[in-house]
Amino acid sequence: MSKKKIIQASKGTYDILPQDQTYWDKIRKVAQDTAADFGFLRIDTPLIEEQELFARGIGLGTDIVEKEMYSFSTKGRDKVALRPELTAGVARAFIEHGLFSLSQPLKLWSVGPIFRYEQPQAGRYRQSHQIDFEVFGSADAVLDAQIIQVAFWFLKKIGLKEVVLHINSIGCKDCRGLYRKALLDYYRRNTKKICPDCKVRLKKNPLRVLDCKNEKCQDVISQAPVMVDYLCDGCKEHFKETLDYLDELEISYYLDSHLVRGLDYYNRNVFEFFLPQQEDKKSLALGGGGRYDGLIKLLGGKETPAVGLALGVERIIGEMKKRGVKVSGRAAPEVFLLQLGNLAKRKGLKLYEELLRNKISVAESFSRDSIKAQLKLADKLQAKIALIFGQQEALDDTTIIREMDSGVQEIVPLSKVIKELKKRL
Ligand SMILES: [Zn+2]
Ligand SMILES: [Zn+2]
Repeated sequence: MSKKKIIQASKGTYDILPQDQTYWDKIRKVAQDTAADFGFLRIDTPLIEEQELFARGIGLGTDIVEKEMYSFSTKGRDKVALRPELTAGVARAFIEHGLFSLSQPLKLWSVGPIFRYEQPQAGRYRQSHQIDFEVFGSADAVLDAQIIQVAFWFLKKIGLKEVVLHINSIGCKDCRGLYRKALLDYYRRNTKKICPDCKVRLKKNPLRVLDCKNEKCQDVISQAPVMVDYLCDGCKEHFKETLDYLDELEISYYLDSHLVRGLDYYNRNVFEFFLPQQEDKKSLALGGGGRYDGLIKLLGGKETPAVGLALGVERIIGEMKKRGVKVSGRAAPEVFLLQLGNLAKRKGLKLYEELLRNKISVAESFSRDSIKAQLKLADKLQAKIALIFGQQEALDDTTIIREMDSGVQEIVPLSKVIKELKKRL
């Protein structure tokens, strides 16, 4: 006999099993409530988009597009990719459906899977999930602050309360050039002290050298010129205003001059959310975002300033578990319906439906025949009342109501069972 190979989930992907769904239910619910609280409208875009969208939007020289994107050609030779993030797709939809004609600023939110081909490790998956909040149509710093407020609100409601904001301004197309030049000059003087990756970054995407995790580069990074010293008046003012709003909101932040984010579309404010970690200091961001005033135009739309953020669901759930955040599971049923014998089983199926129609929460185990086993399950599920439907009861059109705590029982006609149950619940 040949043994068949057991197929496992594809590398870097995982199943969300029933026992984990309580976390997901909570996250979806809180995301939905948060969106409603702050006036965000839901949008869902396809998992597949034209490659061109990400190449243009996120940028060709970025790690995401260059190394991590699942790109392929369809049978019809369309060049498509699985979305590596949500913003580009939402921005594409904004243009395609003329959403700029709706009252602005337009607030949109979305949740769903994203795909990145990377080495699976703790907190990183090839298919993971993000929650996105985006605001289109205003350059006002008050919206930068509000979208950060939204993230804090959401994380607090989830049960993660010690979140720290890292924030930086990476300037605009007017002032970033000056900074880039200063940074390149500085690095040119220090090429001997940096890692090979950074030498490549200097050619392709110089700002990313500030992001380097290589031990060798840390000295050079710490002495590097910082963007905030090169900001133009407009960017400086925008940054200052944002921080003023954050002070007003009592949101604690850390000015992180090395924060650049790995996507080309950002300008001005960029930010990430962290939780203080106990043992290892290398904490992963729960999410982040920034302003992307140029993206809509870059994708062929009208000039439309925008700001947004994404939160990583897997990391959030990881932290919830680590920190023992309580999530309530399925509520105990009010009634457990027990049956014995064929007739009772048949009539029981219908009775079950009648209980549901009357908004009585009910559980059953029709496939179990022993009353003892069914009572045990009713007890385990913490049902308040057991409804016992045996052979005799099924013949007589009656049922036994048993209060689980006291064990007190009463026989009632089926026609009165709903009324009697409601009296007791
Ligand atoms: Zn500027
Ligand atoms: Zn480096």
